[in-house]
Amino acid sequence: MRWHQATLLVASGCAMVEAQANLLEVEGARVRFRTLGFLRALIAGAKDPYIDAVLDVSFAVRAGETFGLVGESGSGKTTLVRAVLGLVDLWSGRIRFDGSEIVDRSDAAFKPIRRQISLMFQDPQASLSPRKTVRSSITEPFIIHNMADRDLEAEARELLGMVGLPVGLLDNYPHQLSGGQARRVGVARALALRPKLIIADEPTAGLDVSVQGEVLNLMNELQGRLGLSYVIVTHNLPVIRHVSDRLAIMYLGRFVEEGPTAAIFARPLHPYTLGLLGAVPQPDPDKRREEPGLMGEVPSLNNRPRGCEFHARCLYVQERCRVDAPVLTEVAPGRRAACHFPLAGS
Ligand code: SF4
Repeated sequence: MRWHQATLLVASGCAMVEAQANLLEVEGARVRFRTLGFLRALIAGAKDPYIDAVLDVSFAVRAGETFGLVGESGSGKTTLVRAVLGLVDLWSGRIRFDGSEIVDRSDAAFKPIRRQISLMFQDPQASLSPRKTVRSSITEPFIIHNMADRDLEAEARELLGMVGLPVGLLDNYPHQLSGGQARRVGVARALALRPKLIIADEPTAGLDVSVQGEVLNLMNELQGRLGLSYVIVTHNLPVIRHVSDRLAIMYLGRFVEEGPTAAIFARPLHPYTLGLLGAVPQPDPDKRREEPGLMGEVPSLNNRPRGCEFHARCLYVQERCRVDAPVLTEVAPGRRAACHFPLAGS
């Protein structure tokens, strides 16, 4: 994970990710949702009453690595991580975690996996039960996983210490916590079962910049100490730029670009990535980017455009783009893009 001192108050230094085995491998993942019930589809004569929320997605996350998933609302990033967590079914494809296939497991067979893949909720103040104390919230995973025979008081104290909160907060309720404290409680809860992978959904949403930096520093420190891997789902590009080692950009359920974060930010290959970068508000006029931003709306999943699905919004569209769908291919070492005319070669 790269955590630099930048707009965020994040720890200085740059920890290179060493060559590590893949912890998570997703191959050809496809998630479909039914849009019409059986009878209505029959009456309407709908031959394929489904939408593809995730389509043909493959990626890997190494041990100790931070992988970012970025895209506008409806891009499929949340559905993709829900599939990894076993919360939605794959229509097709494979997911391996720590060397084992995890698709199509029964609930009972998935439970040991769920201990090792933890979800950090977007808004812990809303996701923590208002009627539960900090102690109850952070030890709840032990109850859910039939591990209540542990010394829960000792676990609670240790977890609070790991996230830098005083044990005096154990009896507090969520409304008695600041935004930063609630986020730390969310981290403590995610750590309870000592997972190998944490999936963080917008880990800094709603926080002041200084508190964002504190939370990201904490996650960085825990990663170094515990060897954690993170998948961070966000549309906050400044955050993902400073915390992720590698990044994938999603559009209409597909990856359109993937590669090392620094390289993508320095020279995006896909016009959609360029548009996302240009859409980031830049308060300092001297530093305003020359990228054009994004035009138009995201098309409906019910009515995917022919050819390149981004063509109606692309400034670089050519005739071929309207009829011929580009495939995600390696454009430069370690970099993949789905575009007939990628913007830069390295
Ligand atoms: Fe734009 Fe064509 Fe590339 Fe699609 S394939 S992103 S329309 S240049």
